[in-house]
Amino acid sequence: MDLVVRSPRMPQPGETLVGRTFAQVPGGKGGNQAVAAARLGAAVSMIGRIGADANGAQLKQGLEVEGIDCSGVSSDAALPTGVALITVDDASQNSIVIVAGSNGALTPEGIAAREPAIAAADVVVCQLETPRETVFAAMQTARRDGRTVVLNPAPVTAPLPRDWLELADFVIPNEIEAAALSGVTVDSPEAAYRAAAALREQGARTVIVTLGGQGVFVLGDHNAQTHGTHYPARRVDAVDTTAAGDTFVGGFAATLASGRSIDEAVRFGLAAAALSVTRAGAQPSIPRLAEVAL
Ligand code: ADP
Repeated sequence: MDLVVRSPRMPQPGETLVGRTFAQVPGGKGGNQAVAAARLGAAVSMIGRIGADANGAQLKQGLEVEGIDCSGVSSDAALPTGVALITVDDASQNSIVIVAGSNGALTPEGIAAREPAIAAADVVVCQLETPRETVFAAMQTARRDGRTVVLNPAPVTAPLPRDWLELADFVIPNEIEAAALSGVTVDSPEAAYRAAAALREQGARTVIVTLGGQGVFVLGDHNAQTHGTHYPARRVDAVDTTAAGDTFVGGFAATLASGRSIDEAVRFGLAAAALSVTRAGAQPSIPRLAEVAL
């Protein structure tokens, strides 16, 4: 659950600021990406864990309203539902602190129990807001079943082991995550190329670095000879970039799942993400298929 404060600027350590507004908004990378994929045309099953509290009930209901199969969402009697404290400043930048709560109790055994859902999926999308060993089990299961694996390596502060990157068909970090994974500072498409090339040397197949208002940079086997492809972002008036990356990932995965090409999936993800930044909030900002004009 996202607890969102709008503030004139980010507070300094020890400082108390008077914010403008407060809102409680369904969020979470996995939830956001599930909602994005569902709104953008895919049939979606969610695997996750909520607490036995009001936040958990509201989140699950929010997913079900989108038509998402939540039979893989378990409930934890002891831990609270995961929360994110989000500050959005007047420049539309965000800063986020997350507390895992029940997400931290999603186990590899919980994945094993959901293998039929994984085996039935065209695309399996993973993030790092649940325990590492659980995400690893999900990616291993998906690959064993011959599914397409998308890893949004977020949040992350250090490089991932080679066997992690090798399990994913697509690794989709933002600039900060790409830098943490590769050691290359990422602030331009050229730098994204260097980071993506480094990640491919670490075992990644296709790397898609999201660059905020600069779009995305794609480097994989299919375009390695051309040194990758930069897709500029749509020009829009950004209001709130929360869930922009999640909208890109969900839109990209939904398009791939419908059998279209990487190029088409990237273009669709960009169009959907650009729409999301023109609106406030995480899940409320995610567009529907009919709104996305290519
Ligand atoms: P995250 O939300 O994970 O930090 P980014 O900020 O890189 O991810 O944004 C993801 C995608 O959303 C970008 O690749 C771009 O397509 C789109 N996007 C983000 N900010 C803007 C913006 N200011 N204008 C247009 N598109 C944007």
